[in-house]
Amino acid sequence: MSEAAAPRPPTESGCPDAFQYMHPALRRNYGNWAYHEDPQPGVLKHVSKSGDEVYTIKVGTQRILDVFTLRKLCDIGDQFADGYIRFTLRSNVEYIVDDESKVQPLIDAITEAGFVVGGTRNSVTTLSHTQGWLHCDIPGTDASGVVKAMMDELIDEFKSWNMPNRVHITTSCCQINCGGQGDIAINVQHTKPPKINHDLVSNVCERPSVVARCPVAAIRPAQVNGKPSLEVDERKCICCGACYPPCPPMQINDAEHTKLAIWVGGNHSNARGKPTFQKLVASGVPNNPPRWPEATAIVKKILKVYKEDAQDWERINDWIERIGWTRFFELTGLPFTKFHIDNWRGARNSLNASAHIRF
Ligand code: SF4
Ligand code: SF4
Repeated sequence: MSEAAAPRPPTESGCPDAFQYMHPALRRNYGNWAYHEDPQPGVLKHVSKSGDEVYTIKVGTQRILDVFTLRKLCDIGDQFADGYIRFTLRSNVEYIVDDESKVQPLIDAITEAGFVVGGTRNSVTTLSHTQGWLHCDIPGTDASGVVKAMMDELIDEFKSWNMPNRVHITTSCCQINCGGQGDIAINVQHTKPPKINHDLVSNVCERPSVVARCPVAAIRPAQVNGKPSLEVDERKCICCGACYPPCPPMQINDAEHTKLAIWVGGNHSNARGKPTFQKLVASGVPNNPPRWPEATAIVKKILKVYKEDAQDWERINDWIERIGWTRFFELTGLPFTKFHIDNWRGARNSLNASAHIRF
């Protein structure tokens, strides 16, 4: 076999070593930091035990970036930030410089190019969203669009330190989402069971996989019009949307019945207390592109009340824990409805179901 025809060796895949992309000052001082300060919103100063200083400038983005915007961000990095740039989990970019004199010219260049510096300390950080329609085949809304529309309205909270503590907001475009847990989460809520196109099921779907996918065993194999298909027990179905990915003929997205739901109090951190799950506070909110005004108004209302009522350094879950859910609904004016009652049959573990007195 000629050399040209020899098979290509496998390409190494997986997460590359991050050290090769780090600013040299970060590499030099790895594991050797003494303390950090927050000189101004969007800027962090880390000081190493060796005396080295490193400044991190955080910039918000809309997450789904076109190549022109990416080039612009990289050019700023090349020109003003020693050629380094990195992306954070919440769709911010960070520039690192090792000299205080480089900070202001960098901020000026960022602002001049139309980007916003902020998102540190007690601010509303950039909303994060799940993979979205660019990568995934089941979105019921445009999560990245929700992010952009809300961020436009919350931008002053991104640029300042006005919140009692950090606020993480997330959006998710399906109900079995790949990551929509936050202080405030805006998640898709399907409100009706899937509608089955029986003509397509036998050609497209692997029925056992679809039956196995349902978390409440609501799907059964069935013969419809003489063809193998599926049926859904609608009394059991919790409208989660899990059957749609393995079987697209089980369409659940719908312009009228696919809504948004707003959840609060999710916290991954265990800094002051245990991590907490978010809880539903508004359901059936219109999924209303391109600006989602109804969902944005609720989020702004929750933030306003949190800002006025929470004590310094209380995260949203800490604040609600202190004032109680009754007071939360009173203060926000959100209606408490039957949809807030956890009546899922697996909820016996979370419901206060015994006669024991709890303190
Ligand atoms: S939230 Fe759901 S629809 Fe959106 S990207 Fe994740 S899995 Fe896909
Ligand atoms: S939407 Fe969820 S609960 Fe309903 S049938 Fe599909 S997988 Fe089952």
